[in-house]
Amino acid sequence: MNPPDSLSGRLDHPVPVTRPVRVLTLAGLLSLLVICPLTSPPSLTPGVLTPPSAPAAPSLDTPTPPDALLLAPCYAISLTMDIARSQVIGEQQVRYTNTEAVPLPDLYFRLFPNTPGYGGEMRVTSIHLNGNPARPEARLNGSALRLPLHPPLDPMETVTLTLAFTATVPLTDEIDYAQFSYVRGVMALPGVYPIIPVYDDEGWNVEIAPEYGDAVHSDIAFYQVDVTAPPTMTLVASGTCAVLEAGRWSCQAGPVRDFVLILGERYQIAHQVAEGVLVHSYFYPDHRESGEQVLRMAVDALTLYSRLFGPYPYEELDVVETPTRAGGIEYPTLVVISEHLYTGHPRLEWVVAHEVAHQWWYGVVGSDPVDEPWLDEALTQYTTLLYHEFLHGPETAADILKNDFQATYDRLVKEGKDRPVGLPVAAYPRDLYSPVVYRKGPLYFHALRERVGDETFFAILQAYYRRHRYGIATPDSFLATVREIAGNEHRDLYERWILGVSR
Ligand SMILES: [Zn+2]
Repeated sequence: MNPPDSLSGRLDHPVPVTRPVRVLTLAGLLSLLVICPLTSPPSLTPGVLTPPSAPAAPSLDTPTPPDALLLAPCYAISLTMDIARSQVIGEQQVRYTNTEAVPLPDLYFRLFPNTPGYGGEMRVTSIHLNGNPARPEARLNGSALRLPLHPPLDPMETVTLTLAFTATVPLTDEIDYAQFSYVRGVMALPGVYPIIPVYDDEGWNVEIAPEYGDAVHSDIAFYQVDVTAPPTMTLVASGTCAVLEAGRWSCQAGPVRDFVLILGERYQIAHQVAEGVLVHSYFYPDHRESGEQVLRMAVDALTLYSRLFGPYPYEELDVVETPTRAGGIEYPTLVVISEHLYTGHPRLEWVVAHEVAHQWWYGVVGSDPVDEPWLDEALTQYTTLLYHEFLHGPETAADILKNDFQATYDRLVKEGKDRPVGLPVAAYPRDLYSPVVYRKGPLYFHALRERVGDETFFAILQAYYRRHRYGIATPDSFLATVREIAGNEHRDLYERWILGVSR
């Protein structure tokens, strides 16, 4: 996410109209073959080229064992677009294994279209557990379903859940960031399927996130998604998609944290291969010049970050122009950039470099974006500063550091509005979230770099990336990596910049 510093007021949206839904058919179910990983996932082998100033980290890391990914959730989803009604009709089969140490008395699904920030509607019309009808309970204003399990699901036990659902997509860009919308020929569909949330030391991690932050906190999973839509539309999605026949696509993604798809009526495309990755830029016909600039920025960012932190582990990266009113939003292997930035806007390069950086910090290395947003956002901001340092020179980066990050922090202090960086999104008033987390937050990483030096700093980030790839990191995991690589966790810096306030 790259929230603008100020947004126009959020408008109320009408209560969605309930529509009849298609009944799940046996034939539909039989067509859903769950494609779960049978072999090890792609590995993060060292890049071909040495990072500009970052030698390889000591081999202290214990990467996520490939076997753990073999137990990751597998989603087989079939989506049919009813464009005239702005609806998506879906069927889904999920294989879920309890990888926790305790029996699970229930399972949850999140229905993100029902959250205020998405402003749509999702209805689950049937749900079966191992083939038997199940009775879920609505939670969190309909944005979650709790499914009691009798008996509880034991550790390492696997269940198969089958769901039928519909989602209605708002025909307006007036709902917050318009991330879930169908306007100006672009149907943007994040969270358009029921997704299993993260189970952690507090139990099922489910809450309604504030509209001005990211909402989805999920585990790495594997996806097979079949899509039926008007053949004249362009489909862009997480992972890799193939056209089966006119109007039918088949997509595979994984290991990824989530699955998003975008349908566009008039996209033009530019592409380039970088670091063995096919990078696409999708843009409106009258924005070709910016669309081609975006491709170059994304290629530069992907190349730099691969060399600084470790390789991008997927075959494709898509950068897509959409009507979103956030500057940009990150999804697995796909980022969206606001159409408002494609008309010569000076923020375009910053936002592209920021969203691509999220593929490392959020995508491959997960973290809780609702309760610990700084861990991905502040590091992503500092990574974006590194992009400017390596692409445009140290003076450009120093200028941003001084006149944006530091100046914003100084102003917060002067106005008595300084807050700790390490708070949940909900702890910040909307107007302070970006200044504190996105401007003050990166100053922690800069202070750490100044303290330990470039060689150790980049070794820390490389180790952090390798050790927590496909997992979920916490602030403690970051500090542990600092301690292992630098020999000292430099807690005073963490306490000053992440936990502390200046008065
Ligand atoms: Zn962000």
